[in-house]
Amino acid sequence: MLDLLNLPGIKPVDMRHESKGLVIVAEPETVEVPLCGGCNTLMHKHGTRKNKFMDTPLYMEPVRLEVQRPRFRCESCGKMSMPELSFLDDKRRATKRLVDVIRQQCLGTTFHALAEQTGVAVNTVKNIAHDLINELSQTVRYETPVIMGIDEVNLAGGYRCVITNLATNNVFDMLEHRTQEHLKPFFKALPDADKVEWVCTDMWRPFKRSFAQYLPNAKLVIDKFHVVKMASEALEVERKNYQAQLSKEDRIYVKKSIRWLTLKRPGNLTPAEQKALEVVKQAIPELAVAYDFKEAFFCIYDELDKQNAQNAFEAWENSLPDQGLVAFKKLAKTVHNHYDDIFAYWDAPFSITNGYTEGLNGLIKMSNRLGRGYGYPIIRAKTLYSKEARKVGSGIRAGHGKVEYGPHIPTLLKQAESGELD
Ligand SMILES: [Zn+2]
Repeated sequence: MLDLLNLPGIKPVDMRHESKGLVIVAEPETVEVPLCGGCNTLMHKHGTRKNKFMDTPLYMEPVRLEVQRPRFRCESCGKMSMPELSFLDDKRRATKRLVDVIRQQCLGTTFHALAEQTGVAVNTVKNIAHDLINELSQTVRYETPVIMGIDEVNLAGGYRCVITNLATNNVFDMLEHRTQEHLKPFFKALPDADKVEWVCTDMWRPFKRSFAQYLPNAKLVIDKFHVVKMASEALEVERKNYQAQLSKEDRIYVKKSIRWLTLKRPGNLTPAEQKALEVVKQAIPELAVAYDFKEAFFCIYDELDKQNAQNAFEAWENSLPDQGLVAFKKLAKTVHNHYDDIFAYWDAPFSITNGYTEGLNGLIKMSNRLGRGYGYPIIRAKTLYSKEARKVGSGIRAGHGKVEYGPHIPTLLKQAESGELD
């Protein structure tokens, strides 16, 4: 029989088909009668043992090996012995090469699909994946970001903390929760902590308290998108108050929803949409006022230096009317509460933001795809150790050896969209 197994020390002698796949019967090629380790005398043949192991699929079917192994017994001390099979995994009834295939694929496909393909139990696939994840968490090291983003993502049934490298657009790490109990040990154990120059987060105060003592050179900047988002939210409060005032005739001109028209930046509107916006503003003067306050707030970020930005904010705040626009007044108060960290944006050598819309929303979308049936540790590993996404931006750097930054966010998103990470 042709040796389609290509495993050292055994040869196939028979093959049959069963409902669960192929069964290949094999025998040891040559068996030398062993010496007893203790007595140093030749052992004697003592029957055979049939052992079953799973092997890599053949013809797209799971393969089970049945190996007939002779057993030997020492006449003097009674010790038993069987020929060693070097291709077997130590921990599982499977060949090493099958465990390797599962290791290579388990973070890129579902455990169930892999179990079905290989004929291995789902729990075995899970165990192999957990061993792999433990190994990866010990051995994989990403470069500490100089510009670090800290965000919160609703993922695998809870709010998780995602740490990103904002200069390279990679995921650096993921923590189970963004509480101080999780953040402090992370920062405490962070290698090259002095490398971090900027930390960009939302307005959640525990972030600052968590890293302040561990990152000696880091300055906090509150993410621009989180700040301007509050102006959009304030406008939404006003829109809901006034939208009902639009007459039926005016509605015909306003083909798009008012929400959409007013939330978009005017530069992103088509001429027709700009006209529709004008109709809305004329029909609802109160909404027009709120809209202009939203836009003026966004424009603060168009200022090129810190003093001008601070002046623009002051002028904006001073022009708020005494009555009404409560949501905008609340926004002004929030800016004052985080004043230095918000205006630190203009101290940075270039614009630092968490790229809120592309990066974070994409991660959420991706986690929704990944989330089905997986717990947090698996989703974390699938994200953090994604083979393809890890390649982007990584490589050999002169004097630094192999440098890795973590999975590249746009590549992760592309994979999520095509379903490769499922
Ligand atoms: Zn012996």
